[in-house]
Amino acid sequence: MLADEVLVAGQWRQGRGAPIKTIDPATGQVIATVHAASLDDVEEAVTAAAHAAHDPAWRELPAHLRARLLHRIADFVERDADRLSALQTADTGKCRTETRALVLSAAGTFRYTAAALETAEDAITPSRGPYVTMSVHEPIGVVGAITPWNSPIASDAQKLAPALAAGNAVVLKPAEWTPLVALALGRLVHQALTEAALPTALLSVLPGRGSVIGDAIVRHPAVGKITFTGGTNTGRTLAHAAADKLIPVSLELGGKSPTIVFDDADLEQALAGVMYGVFSSSGQSCIAGSRLFVARSRYEEFVGELVARTEKLRVGPGTDPDTQVAPLVHHKHRDSVAAYVDLAREEGATVRCGGAAPEGDSYRDGAYYLPTVLDGLPNSARVCQEEIFGPVLVALPFDDEDDLVAQANDSVYGLACGLWTRDHAKAWRVARRIDAGTVWINTYKQFSISTPFGGLKDSGIGTEKGRDLIRGYQRQKSLYWGTGTAPLPWAAN
Ligand code: NAD
Repeated sequence: MLADEVLVAGQWRQGRGAPIKTIDPATGQVIATVHAASLDDVEEAVTAAAHAAHDPAWRELPAHLRARLLHRIADFVERDADRLSALQTADTGKCRTETRALVLSAAGTFRYTAAALETAEDAITPSRGPYVTMSVHEPIGVVGAITPWNSPIASDAQKLAPALAAGNAVVLKPAEWTPLVALALGRLVHQALTEAALPTALLSVLPGRGSVIGDAIVRHPAVGKITFTGGTNTGRTLAHAAADKLIPVSLELGGKSPTIVFDDADLEQALAGVMYGVFSSSGQSCIAGSRLFVARSRYEEFVGELVARTEKLRVGPGTDPDTQVAPLVHHKHRDSVAAYVDLAREEGATVRCGGAAPEGDSYRDGAYYLPTVLDGLPNSARVCQEEIFGPVLVALPFDDEDDLVAQANDSVYGLACGLWTRDHAKAWRVARRIDAGTVWINTYKQFSISTPFGGLKDSGIGTEKGRDLIRGYQRQKSLYWGTGTAPLPWAAN
């Protein structure tokens, strides 16, 4: 299959950049060659986006009609859910159940954003003189949206929906390894814009190298906001570029999230939560609960049972409905995960289970790695501090609440945390003491579009989701409207 068309300035055509081969990580087979965007394509896309953002047909479109556009996109995504889910499974390797949920969550994001848009209000503020004061929100213009490979359609929708709702144009750059779903979503948005007789240059989808195409989008003078999901180092580079241009940037970055099992926890619930928290999506999730802290008194009992159950997880292709742990996104990424486990061995870890690719013909060509539990390391070890982004859990014991909080917070990251206890007062206390943007109590990795999501420390700046999700894509303006009849006293006779 040759996917030779990218979306540049409202036109589907072959990108002028170098071809990118995208593979199915379950088989290692090339599923498409995408002709990536070139620097000229970026220039053309951003220039056309700036015009489209100022086109009165878009700029003056009332909120309820912009909301209708978002609902139409959601209709198309729901209609094509099976196709999009199959495409995402082929491109990322993820299980079909997960990719289907991601597709439907993307549709839900467009619908929720439409509702937020229709109910968003500007304010008349208390005036201090003969004038009416108003605080209003306006579009920024062109938004550069850059997304990672792990959950393409969901992260694309989380940026696209609020950016369009706010009245902007968007230039979207998906990750090199997984460009297909963003392009497929682009087709649906393009169709909805065409049907509504709106400027199709409101969205460009430009696959390509991050350091070339992503960088050109970020640095383009007409791009007025950067919204990014990806690794912390990349996020830091983008924040520097945004600082140079004095434009807002929102960053959803990496994590090394602690999951905590107290001695009074419901162990069945905790086992299921810890395993799902780290091994679903094969650990390729920013919020993966990849550092496990267990009360010392229950440590051996809990970790022993966890290892026994982890060994029974079903590893296989994402297309098999029985699969729990699918291949990693790419063979190169599998090798980087394996290198981390080798490093753990060098650091003195005990590999309690996993620690290798699965054996057998059916696994030979895929980017598989067994779910792995490590222990015997201090929290200062590199594998306890660095994001591995694979099915690798590091287990550590803790002595008391202060020891736990100190260890859990001893990380540059602050994305998420899970804790299991039957003691409500302790749950409340610890949840408030942990540095994390999201804390799950007696559950893990549950999401609601109506609840803001974002990271602390090196895990990011800003939030997505929640009823104010559109505000990050707008500029606030104050208006003073004089109501008096007398001139201002300064120049009075
Ligand atoms: P990455 O940072 O390597 O790439 C992310 C995107 O940035 C890609 O599209 C890439 O091409 C682009 N990019 C790379 N260098 C760039 C540059 N110099 N200028 C502009 N764009 C550039 O991340 P990844 O490996 O694709 O994704 C995995 C990371 O994403 C993990 O760290 C994970 O934790 C993080 N992530 C965070 C969240 C969250 O919500 N906090 C969600 C998903 C993934």
